[in-house]
Amino acid sequence: MFHAVVGAQYGDEGKGKMVDYLAEEADIVVRYQGGGNAGHTIVNAYGKFALHLVPSGIFHPHTLCVLGAGVVVNPPKLVEELTSLAEAGIDTRRIVISDRAHMVLPYHIWQDQWEEEARSKKVGTTLQGIGPAYQDKVGRFGIQMGEMRDVARLKERVRAAFEAKCRRLPGLERYGTWADVWEPIAAARDVLLPYITDTTPLLYEAAKANKHVLFEGQLGIMRDLDWGVYPFVTSSNPIAGAVCSGAGVPPTQIERITGITKAYTTAVGEGPFPTELHDEYGAFLRDRGHEYGATTGRPRGCGWLDLPALRYGAWINGYTELALMKLDVLSGLDEIRVAVAYELDGHRLDWPPAAYDMERAKPVYHALPGWQEDISDCRTFDDLPSAARQYVAFIEEQVGVSIRYVSVGPSREQTIVRG
Ligand code: GDP
Repeated sequence: MFHAVVGAQYGDEGKGKMVDYLAEEADIVVRYQGGGNAGHTIVNAYGKFALHLVPSGIFHPHTLCVLGAGVVVNPPKLVEELTSLAEAGIDTRRIVISDRAHMVLPYHIWQDQWEEEARSKKVGTTLQGIGPAYQDKVGRFGIQMGEMRDVARLKERVRAAFEAKCRRLPGLERYGTWADVWEPIAAARDVLLPYITDTTPLLYEAAKANKHVLFEGQLGIMRDLDWGVYPFVTSSNPIAGAVCSGAGVPPTQIERITGITKAYTTAVGEGPFPTELHDEYGAFLRDRGHEYGATTGRPRGCGWLDLPALRYGAWINGYTELALMKLDVLSGLDEIRVAVAYELDGHRLDWPPAAYDMERAKPVYHALPGWQEDISDCRTFDDLPSAARQYVAFIEEQVGVSIRYVSVGPSREQTIVRG
């Protein structure tokens, strides 16, 4: 069974925890897009980990982890991640990297800085070269991981690409030299070579053998290159449709699509965020939810749950179910608001408009009663206070998708599974 797990908001929804949880049943976990710029935080028996590229299935001894062709790989960064996992006693031989995945090279990181400095309105990139690596892929200047196999050819290709880049971006040389480009890549190559393979037959065989394959999205629909709040988006497609292009599997194979959403909304960086709160409620959510970026440490904007975004994702992603994360964070509020629609120029919208209009969209709120009880020890739906159950039921009714999982804390046990 092929099962996609995708972010239903702006990323940081807690996908890491859910993939870790669902990976227990999975034979293979696949990353299909993105790079090492966002992070999943996972707390388990091995400790606390911030994973950037490696799928969170790595913590299950029987699970194979795949970095698909749609991912961009920063070789030295991946080596660092593999080393930290190995130091914690985790077997990293169960990781494979698609030979078609593109590399993030040192000059992509320099280009990221060069471009962000040149922009009058900052996009708020994480300056890790992910966007420039995707630009090069689209521009046909990219270098694929499989090209690491032939070192002489690789060196020539990277050198030519670097020289062409310097010609296109005057002044780029001030960030580093050819040696700064090549040496880290050559060193990483020695480590990564055994991991690089053609992942297509592997997934084909998995489908034939009816293996359980999880596809793990990075970020969420509101940061999707096409469907998110452009240009404040990531440079790939987190939506479920991109599982097919990024992992190399047919749409007809995907049976389950789990949308991951927090019980409220957070977003880091720039861009429209209609339900963002700048008052004590926003501060409450940030403090209670520890809403700071896993990779960057940046404080996240916090606000009420945005149902138009969930509804939009229910259609575009085709959720077969939702997982509602961090419900415990809402304990202690007298009243909880949810945006049921937006108002834009006198019209009511059930779905987010294009981002250039979204700055002007005003949320239409519905208020629900809060609850005071700490719910982090609840293990069944019936253990939850009635106001919390009412909150869950309201979301389901508004989005038209059932909430199969309710998460009430970071650990695996703090997950309520509904029938
Ligand atoms: P991801 O990238 O979507 O995995 O999200 P992050 O890792 O940035 O954020 C999830 C954070 O919330 C991590 O620190 C998790 O340990 C934590 N977390 C996940 N689920 C819950 C939950 O239900 N309650 C609480 N309190 N924390 C949670």
